[in-house]
Amino acid sequence: MNSMKIVPAAVELALLVGLVFAGGCGRGDRVVEEPPPAGPERAPDVEAKKPQVGQARPSHEHPAFRERVAEREAMVSKQIAERAFAQTIKDQKVLEAMRTVPRHAFVPGRYQRQAYADRPLPIGYGQTISQPYIVGYMTEMLELDEKSKVLEIGTGSGYQAAVAAELAGQVYSIEIIKALGESGQKRLKELGYKNVVTKVADGYYGWPEKGPFEAIIVTAASSHIPGPLIEQLKPGGRLVIPLGSAWRAQELVLVSKGADGTVQSRGLMGVRFVPMLGKAQE
Ligand code: SAH
Repeated sequence: MNSMKIVPAAVELALLVGLVFAGGCGRGDRVVEEPPPAGPERAPDVEAKKPQVGQARPSHEHPAFRERVAEREAMVSKQIAERAFAQTIKDQKVLEAMRTVPRHAFVPGRYQRQAYADRPLPIGYGQTISQPYIVGYMTEMLELDEKSKVLEIGTGSGYQAAVAAELAGQVYSIEIIKALGESGQKRLKELGYKNVVTKVADGYYGWPEKGPFEAIIVTAASSHIPGPLIEQLKPGGRLVIPLGSAWRAQELVLVSKGADGTVQSRGLMGVRFVPMLGKAQE
């Protein structure tokens, strides 16, 4: 549909031409969709042929969901739904997802007291769990619904994957650091996020077997948009990525792929993310 050569060039051009600062809007109810009845009595229809996305919903049965509820509520109301000098998050479904996900279950023991603070926190291996506001903002930009299939680069603690999983049908998440990938996967499983699948690999190459994706979220900064990720973005899809070097200002960029496969991007806000490792650094 789109050649590898044309698309990255188009993105680079768009980045050079228009880095406009702006903002935008996306969570589905936790509806459990029954699988269509199998068997010869059911006439084949379009629904039955659709990919089986959105059937496994987060269970919310783990006790952590009932802990520190007031702190989450305060986090959302004071840092995310209202915020001085910054664009606030308006999408009620995103706000509800952030009230729901027990952030403290993703934060290491010694940072427990700060789990709902307005800042990123260390998660080991030189990596961080992003500031709650940034997680909310990036999630809103993806405009997720229960039919969305999402790819995340940088599982880390698993927190962003969990927030996305509250809204989307299916989340795939890739982590390059093995120990983080394994602990993130274990945590997500224990917390009942059945609609998140993770793997340890270099996310630069995406996950072509699972794509294309309605939404791609990159949670580590790269100097450029990895070509394979643009390739794996569905027409009509959205990709959010922090662009820039580790030591200089980075910009959060929203890349949209039109129905015809053309790619546009715009700058959203200044950010600071840990650098993308692996192929992105070559
Ligand atoms: N989304 C995470 C944020 C983690 S910080 C959370 O919610 O906790 C960024 C993560 O990206 C780190 O865990 C880092 O190891 C990972 N990362 C960096 N480069 C990567 C790459 N090329 N592929 C996959 N993961 C990468």
